[in-house]
Amino acid sequence: MARYIFVTGGVVSSLGKGLSSASLAYLIQSRGYKVRLRKLDPYLNVDPGTMSPFQHGEVFVTDDGAETDLDLGHYERFSGVTAKKTDNITTGKIYSDVLKKERKGKYLGKTVQVIPHITDRIKEFIKHDTSKEDFVICEIGGIVGDIESLPFVEAIRQFSNDIGKKNALFIHLTLVPYLKASDEIKTKPTQHSVKELRSIGIQPDIIICRSERSIPLEHRKKISLFCNVDIKNVIETVDVKTIYEAPISFAKEKLDVQVLNYFKIKSKKSNNLTPWKKITKITLNTKRHVNIAIIGKYVELKDAYKSLDEALTHGGISNNLKVNLVRIDSEKLKVSEIKNKLKNVSGILIPGGFGKRGTEGKIEAIRYSRINKIPFLGICYGMQMAIIEFARNQLKIKKATSSEFDKVGIHIIGLMHEWEKSGRKVKGTDKDLGGTMRLGSYDAILKDKSKIRDIYKSRLIKERHRHRYEVDISYKEKFEKKGLIFSGLSPDHKLPEIIELKNHPWFIGVQFHPEFKSRPLNPHPLFSSFIRAAKNHR
Ligand code: GLN
Repeated sequence: MARYIFVTGGVVSSLGKGLSSASLAYLIQSRGYKVRLRKLDPYLNVDPGTMSPFQHGEVFVTDDGAETDLDLGHYERFSGVTAKKTDNITTGKIYSDVLKKERKGKYLGKTVQVIPHITDRIKEFIKHDTSKEDFVICEIGGIVGDIESLPFVEAIRQFSNDIGKKNALFIHLTLVPYLKASDEIKTKPTQHSVKELRSIGIQPDIIICRSERSIPLEHRKKISLFCNVDIKNVIETVDVKTIYEAPISFAKEKLDVQVLNYFKIKSKKSNNLTPWKKITKITLNTKRHVNIAIIGKYVELKDAYKSLDEALTHGGISNNLKVNLVRIDSEKLKVSEIKNKLKNVSGILIPGGFGKRGTEGKIEAIRYSRINKIPFLGICYGMQMAIIEFARNQLKIKKATSSEFDKVGIHIIGLMHEWEKSGRKVKGTDKDLGGTMRLGSYDAILKDKSKIRDIYKSRLIKERHRHRYEVDISYKEKFEKKGLIFSGLSPDHKLPEIIELKNHPWFIGVQFHPEFKSRPLNPHPLFSSFIRAAKNHR
C-alpha cells in the first residue's frame, strides 16, 4: 500500500504549497520511489473549468480531459508524472457525488451528514485509482482555519487513523515573517497556525517555514518546542530567485531524508540535483535575451497563463536565453499603437481565449507579424484568430469570423454541428458551459515536409485540447492556394490542428495547448523552435 503525505498550509495563502509538494515529489522520485500527486480544493465549483482566470489563474488540462487546478501543472512539470482526472477533486464534486447518491436512495434512509458521508467520499477519493505508487502526496487547498477546508482536514485526520499513523505524514507549510522595522523574525504566526491545526486533531510531523531570510537556530528551536515537532523536521524555505532552485533548496534542508526517515525506509539512490542546477544556472546567469509579446485578455494576472509562461521560459533554457515576456492587454491594444508596441519584440504569441473582447487588436497584431515576418505562435484561440486574419486580408472574405462571437458573418470558425451533422461527432451545445469542450489529449497527423513535422520529428503527435470551436476544414484548399498550409489534421482529416505560413520564417498556429506538456527538464520542441526563431529574428 502507498504511504500518504498530506500537505496543509497556514497563516496566509500563496506560500507555494504546490511548488513544495512538486519539489518533494521530484526528490522522493530521485531516491528511487514512485510518486503520485493530488490536490484537494475546497471551493464549490465542480472543477475550475468555469472559473475566470482572473479569479483562479490558469485552468490546467490533463491528458484524460480534466480541467484542473494550476498546481497540477507544477506537479507535472517537476515530477514528470502525468496527472489524471482523479488527481484533483473539489468540494463541489464531492457534494455533487454525495447528493446524487442521496437522490438515488443509496444511503438507505439515513440522515446524510458532513461526517461521515462527505468525509467518507473524500477518503475514497484520496485512495481511489492508486496502485503501484510508493507515495501519494495530497495537497489541501486554502489554509487551515478556513471554514471551507474543514471537511478535508477532518477527512485526512480520519484517513491517517484508518491506515495507521506510520503510513501517513503531515506536512504544514507556514509563513515566518521578517519584520524590517524591528529587524526580527517572528515565529508566532506559525505557532498559532499549528495550534489551529492541532485543535482539529492534526499534529504536524514536519513544518516547512517559508521565509524571506534564513531562520536562525534559536527560532527553529522555538518552533520545534512550541509546535511539538522535532528540530530536524523544522525545515526552512527561503525565497528562491527562480522556482527551479526549489528542489535544490529543499534537498539542502534534507526534506526528502526526513520524509524517508519518518516512514523508516531507506533511500534507493542518492538524489540527482544536476539537471536543476544546470537550468538554474542558465536562468540566472544568461545575459542574452529575447522579447516575446503575449497579447491576451488576462495578462494582468500572472498566473492566468502559468503553463504558457513556463513553456516559454523552457524554450529559452533550451536556447540558452532569457525570455522577457512583454504582456499586452488585447482589450486595450489600439490598432494605431501596434507598430509602436511591437517594435522591440522578436516574437508574437496569441494565447488561448474566449469571447469577443480584444479580438480586433489580436487580429491586427497577427497581420503585423505576418507582413513583417516576425515569428508568430497562435495557440488555440490564437490559431483561430490567425485564420480569420488570413481569410479577411488574403482570401478577401471580409466577413470571415467565428460563431463564438459573431451571429452574422461567414463562420470559418464554428461549432461542428453548425456545418454538418453526419460524419463528425456532434458536440458543444452552448447551454451548459461546464465540461462541454473538446478536452484532453487528441492525435494529430503532421504533413510530410512541413515545418511542424520538422519541429516534432514525428508524424503522429498527441496534444491537449480545450476548445469548443473548430476551423471549418472545407476552406482548406482556398487557404493553401494562398500559402497558409493546414499542416496538421485530426486522424480522420476533418479537423484542422495546425496551420503554418509558407513564405514566412516562422508562423504557426495550433488548435491545441502545447504549453501543458512542456517541462523544465524537457522543453517542448514547439517552444524551443519558436524561441530559436525569435533569436534569429532581425
Ligand atoms: N474560444 C475558443 C474555442 O472555444 C478557443 C478556446 C481556447 O483558446 N482555449 O474554441
